Amino acid sequence: MARFDSPVNIFALGGLGEVGKNTYCFETDRSLILVDAGVRFPEANLPGVDYVIPDYSYLKNNRAKIKALFITHGHEDHIGGIPFLIRSVYIPVIYAPRLAAALIRHKLEDARIKDEVKIVEIDSNSVINIGDDFKVSFYRVTHSIPDSYGVCIDTNEGRIIESGDFKIDLTPVGPNFELSKLATMGTQGVDLLMADSTNAEIEGYTPSETNVRSGVEEIFDKAPGRVIVSTFSSNINRIQQVVEVAVEHKRKICILGRSMETVVGISRQYGYIKIPDASIISDDMVRNYKASEICILCTGSQGEAMAALSRIANGDHKTIHIIPGDTIIFSSNPIPGNGALIDRLVNNLVKQGADVKQNSLAFSLHSSGHPSRQELRLMLRLANPHYFMPIHGEYRMLKLHAEIGESLGIPHDHTFVCDNGDTLVLKNHVVTRGGKIPADDVYIDGNDLDGLSSAVIHDREILKNDGMVAVLVTINSKTNTLVVPPIVYARGFAAGEDTHVIRHAQMHAEEAIREIMQEKVTFGEIKTTIKNAVSKYIYRKTERNPMIVPVIMNSVD
Ligand SMILES: [Zn+2]
Ligand SMILES: [Zn+2]
Repeated sequence: MARFDSPVNIFALGGLGEVGKNTYCFETDRSLILVDAGVRFPEANLPGVDYVIPDYSYLKNNRAKIKALFITHGHEDHIGGIPFLIRSVYIPVIYAPRLAAALIRHKLEDARIKDEVKIVEIDSNSVINIGDDFKVSFYRVTHSIPDSYGVCIDTNEGRIIESGDFKIDLTPVGPNFELSKLATMGTQGVDLLMADSTNAEIEGYTPSETNVRSGVEEIFDKAPGRVIVSTFSSNINRIQQVVEVAVEHKRKICILGRSMETVVGISRQYGYIKIPDASIISDDMVRNYKASEICILCTGSQGEAMAALSRIANGDHKTIHIIPGDTIIFSSNPIPGNGALIDRLVNNLVKQGADVKQNSLAFSLHSSGHPSRQELRLMLRLANPHYFMPIHGEYRMLKLHAEIGESLGIPHDHTFVCDNGDTLVLKNHVVTRGGKIPADDVYIDGNDLDGLSSAVIHDREILKNDGMVAVLVTINSKTNTLVVPPIVYARGFAAGEDTHVIRHAQMHAEEAIREIMQEKVTFGEIKTTIKNAVSKYIYRKTERNPMIVPVIMNSVD
């Protein structure tokens, strides 16, 4: 690589302090590359939000420098932001593993923006030079989706490894983790390691994905009727295992749920999930077979109301209903916060005569795709970095992961627990903290790709927490007078509280309007006056900041 002296800025637009919207950036004076462009699915406190994406304004302001986007694997928290990203800035090329590339193409077709993007498939032998600034290479990892990679970025200032999502599975479904390749990179010298922190709270090793198989097999062996397996559509290795068990047990497989159908369809097309054509049936054919000849594979393991399993349980599915003797396998663990939803779903299924099997010590029906603490230690030993930045996790996970690094001898001041938007600077093999760039959440409502709904979400938050006050005013713009005293409506106030507050808000509004209308005023000025007078009074009385909506009517007759 030709010598070009330019420090490398390293920062995340998403992925730190959260599990989701992973977007990591590497920038020199003249080039910028990204690793992953994910979305986050909104928490329950964001009413009406479909996706959360990063603020791309820094990229917009530096658009001329953007050279490429590299993708580690095909999960939504790594590729889901791509349609939004490429509408914000021009990405000359996306380098992605084969399966991720197929999923991205499908996603872009859905968003009708496929033609604008060049996608190049990579594998573990690929080496990509971005001018003289970056040389990017890959090593294969094990995770819950095939074709997952870690990324090695060589720069003139030093070497960075970004782990992608991984677990160190020694008996994986599919190809092995390229441990020796990682170890070689570590021996040559790694300046900065950025690594997955999702399971930093869990001691030990994450069980192998193939462990799940015997638990699933045992249930299939004993199930008297249909077996309905619910898991994440993103867990392609799991789906492959369940399918193999079903075929061995001579059961026909019916796939339900939009995301499951899409992912299984693409994965079959590319050979990542193998189901004999004769083994797959559509939902309306299920009734043509004996119950003991059926396996239904569906979405909804988190109790999501609109997913296939909930619709089946509620009797809302057009063809499939629960019949006594069904065995339901939840091949998943509850995501924190979903417990109550899942409990309700399980009760509903049991009430209808189903036998529900969840992951437990007795039945190993799920294994995480992320590394537990021993694997994190192993990763740190293999990469042997001089500096360490935990990524992909909520704050406490990043913090614990940093402590693991320190316990293995990485000095405290070589360990960086960062927020989205914090920058690190790599210069001559030394990493220091840099400045801050904007990296707030941007909320996406439906098909609004511009993130304009952030303001609307903010309004909904106010409505939910502080209520709303509407002030109806009738004026005569010819005579510049108030025709009748203002009428105030309030929503979201406690009974009793409201009558008193409303009466006084009315008086304050009227007083303020009469005063300002002594001179010629615009509607805008009247509205501002009402807002100020009413909100000031209500805040003083109730310590709340409701949304104030002034409505002005002009009665000139
Ligand atoms: Zn992943
Ligand atoms: Zn991830």
